[in-house]
Amino acid sequence: MDEQTEFYDLADKSMTYCDRCGKGTTALIYVAMPAGNELKYCAHHAGRYRANLNLLGAFLYELSA
Ligand SMILES: [Zn+2]
Repeated sequence: MDEQTEFYDLADKSMTYCDRCGKGTTALIYVAMPAGNELKYCAHHAGRYRANLNLLGAFLYELSA
């Protein structure tokens, strides 16, 4: 991995967007799925999917800015 790639990789981690809204909406909730993958949602989408995610056994982390 060259320096430039590394920079973009770090930038990508610090800029977290809602998986549903896309870029422009900051994610406020991290969702750890039982399968091991992670989802990120804004407050709006987290509220919308929270009940289903809980049923699936997902763990929701609230991120405070
Ligand atoms: Zn959203």
